[in-house]
Parts: sequence; structure tokens; C-alpha cells
Amino acid sequence: MVDDLYQEIIIDHSKRPRNCHAMEDANRRAEGYDPLCGDKLKLFLKMEGDVVRDLSFVGAGCAISTASASLMTESLKGKSRDEALKLLEKFHELLTTDTPAGKELGKLVVFGGVREYPARVKCATLAWHTLRSALTDSSAEPVSTE
Ligand code: ZN
Repeated sequence: MVDDLYQEIIIDHSKRPRNCHAMEDANRRAEGYDPLCGDKLKLFLKMEGDVVRDLSFVGAGCAISTASASLMTESLKGKSRDEALKLLEKFHELLTTDTPAGKELGKLVVFGGVREYPARVKCATLAWHTLRSALTDSSAEPVSTE
């Protein structure tokens, strides 16, 4: 039952991805590519200080990578950089370990089932890896290396 609901959410987001457009005034961008599956993704971030004010993506990829990017952009608006990176960690845990999903993941728990398909884990984490490089890219502003 739960799996069906999760499936539905993933299919919905892959068919009608949210925040799927380029952003002219983004102040951070990053690109991700998964050669195994062929998923490509461009991520746009509008940071206000340390807060993710807005984010969007464009890309061509499989259903899992598109749905993951869509749900990620929905989950991160208004979050601080630290919160975003923490969520990334939790999401990665969800996909690679048996750790029970924490509440903070919200809708992202729908990707828990991907754990059983190792080849697909990269599809689901592509957007998040791209996010990490967008958040930690030092070209936009100096990043502390401590
Ligand atoms: Zn893929």
C-alpha cells in the first residue's frame, strides 16, 4: 500500500516536475551528469546570504532522477545551507543504509525503495550531488576551508 503511494508520488513528479525551468538571476549554478544512466541536470540556486531563497533545475533523465530533482527543489526552499547539506546526508543515508527514515526527510522518504536497486541510487542522488557542488562552489563567494 505504502509502496504504491510512493510509486505514485515518484511518477507524478517525473511527469510533472516542479521548479523545472532555467533561472536567469540565479547566483549559483552547477551541472550534474550520470554517465551510467545518461541523466543530465542543471541546477539553479538563488542564495540570499546563507538561505536558499529559490531553486530550479532543467535536465534530461530517467523518471527517478527527474522526480528526485523535483522533490529536492520542493524540499529546500527557505532552508539554510547547513540544513540543505544535512538533508543531503539524510537522503544519502536513506538510500544506502537501513537507518530508519527521519521525519526531516518529509516526502523524500518515497525514495527509500530505490535502495534495493543499486544502479538507480545514482539516479536518485544526482540532483543532490549537484546541489552539493552548487552550495560549496567557491567561485561565487569565498568558502571557509576549516
Ligand atoms: Zn537515471
